Amino acid sequence: MLNWGEPVWEVVDRDICARIGRLHTEHGVVETPALMPVINPGSRIINPKEILEQIKPKMVITNAYILYKNIDMREEAILNGIHKLLGFDGVVMADSGSYQLLRYGGVDITNHETLEFQKEIGVDIATPLDIPTPPRETHLRAEADLETTYKHLEEAIELFSGCKQLLNGPVQGSTYPDLRRESAKWVSSKPFDIHAIGGVVPLMERYEFVEVTRIILEVKKHLNPARPVHLFGCGHPMLLPLAVMLGCDLFDSAAYALYAKDHRYLTPEKTIKLEELEYFPCCCKLCTSTDPKTLKNSSNQEITMFLATHNLLVTLAEIEKIKQAIRQGVLWDLVVSRARAHPALLAATKEAIKEYEHLERFTPIYKPSGIKYVGEETHRHPVVARAKQRIAPLLEKTSLVVKHPLLGEIPWELSESYPMGQVVMENNKNKANTRQKHGDNLEKIRMIADYQFFPGAGQTLFPSEVEIQTSKKTGRIRDILLEGERIATLRAENSLLVLGELGAKRLHAHTKEPTFRVCVDPEAAPFISQGSSVFSKFVLNADQRIRPYDEVLVTTPGDKLIAHGKALLSGCEMTFFKRGVAVKTRGAIKPHGENRQKVCSYVPSWYKPKTDETYDETDGHNHGRG
Ligand SMILES: [Zn+2]
Repeated sequence: MLNWGEPVWEVVDRDICARIGRLHTEHGVVETPALMPVINPGSRIINPKEILEQIKPKMVITNAYILYKNIDMREEAILNGIHKLLGFDGVVMADSGSYQLLRYGGVDITNHETLEFQKEIGVDIATPLDIPTPPRETHLRAEADLETTYKHLEEAIELFSGCKQLLNGPVQGSTYPDLRRESAKWVSSKPFDIHAIGGVVPLMERYEFVEVTRIILEVKKHLNPARPVHLFGCGHPMLLPLAVMLGCDLFDSAAYALYAKDHRYLTPEKTIKLEELEYFPCCCKLCTSTDPKTLKNSSNQEITMFLATHNLLVTLAEIEKIKQAIRQGVLWDLVVSRARAHPALLAATKEAIKEYEHLERFTPIYKPSGIKYVGEETHRHPVVARAKQRIAPLLEKTSLVVKHPLLGEIPWELSESYPMGQVVMENNKNKANTRQKHGDNLEKIRMIADYQFFPGAGQTLFPSEVEIQTSKKTGRIRDILLEGERIATLRAENSLLVLGELGAKRLHAHTKEPTFRVCVDPEAAPFISQGSSVFSKFVLNADQRIRPYDEVLVTTPGDKLIAHGKALLSGCEMTFFKRGVAVKTRGAIKPHGENRQKVCSYVPSWYKPKTDETYDETDGHNHGRG
């Protein structure tokens, strides 16, 4: 396995607990969330080569147990490798036979055999034979199964040590929160590359989505946040937005083929029997080429291939929709709209959003899109709930409380800040009611600092003598200076503060560790001081209150301030991630009297790890100046 050597996954964007990441393997880089079609090279009804040709997936999953049991396929796979056998040069993950164990109660392959076989045929991601305990089995049995799983996982670690193939460390524990928690902690302490949440297929089949949600939440709370998570057996598009919002990154679909064989047609919200279809509610290349009546008159083989292809295309399209929603910060809207597809999904969504504190911990401070009121659940949106929590202690400090249509009472100073100023209500009521000018600009920026950092931060950052520069065109606040040095800039698009060097120094001088600090290895300090980003592998510790996109102070041990920047990870994630950027540096702290020209010096390659980091948001003070 590559882990504890070179980590294989990095996060490049996020929304609530959802992540867009990049998984690095021997057969290329795959963007997550990703859906892996289950490819069975032995299938006679669904031609795997044709499916791969039509769909062109980046990553697939195949069952090592089924391959192993078929002597011809086994020999061919060993001789030529799995990629040749499948006629596919993308990423291949293997399942071990655990699913068959869950389904049929037994398999005639040992853990050692399946692992050796997966290693031999060159799968990119190998899976040990974990023991999936069915839901609501006795605690005693679930515990015993977990013990066996641990033994199998230990064996896998030994076998794959030093290998370039990635290793999956599945989490089991049936429907017992204590066992799921223990299992998540155990696998996190071992050098796995990805984790699967296993044993949930029977629950999904029975539409017990609330239980599935509870399991995901329990596991995610205790799993290493720097590793991608595979929700095993979740292939119906209706569940994907919620699962991604809770932090699942990989999915597999056997559903496309199973439903196709059963002549069932998938949509993002439900499954429809072909015989009931009068129209195709889909614009994929197949559905636009014919109509249900013609299809019904085709051969069984043709119908099955048609439905398998459509089912996969519609599922993959849902993944694209989810990723687009993450980028824009509107995943919540998609989850809430999908929740209307089925009462069980609505109940699961409500169960998920009860866990506000967990969801909020990973939710960025702002996103490009505002919060749309899309139903009662909007009140539980982590961004809305966080805003209410932060506003409560500030109400007594303001000279005027105004009524916000979604958040209730807010200080007038915050009426333009994210999310208050970006909330979209019916008839745009928000803007009419709360965007009113009152009091002075100093009051306003101090209140925003209190909201953004902590109550009292406004006084700390902005003494009475500050010079507040405003846009000549719009009159809006831009830069806040003290004796010509910039303390902060108010971002035009979300009315939140971007710290300048003086602001960082003032915040540092008036607070104690660990407040808003990211403490880094002194070894990395020279490069950060030259403007290089803070790579997560150099983070020693970080304030747990930091949220993605917070303004943070970069320090070295002994609380020496060396730079300031924008956090890209949550404080609680920073010490776990070993790949990618933790803080995008806005500026280095120059010792007094040093030349203020930007220095451009050599940064050695060992400092700057290979990364596909794509955060390219422009810093607040570089644009929008009026
Ligand atoms: Zn279609």
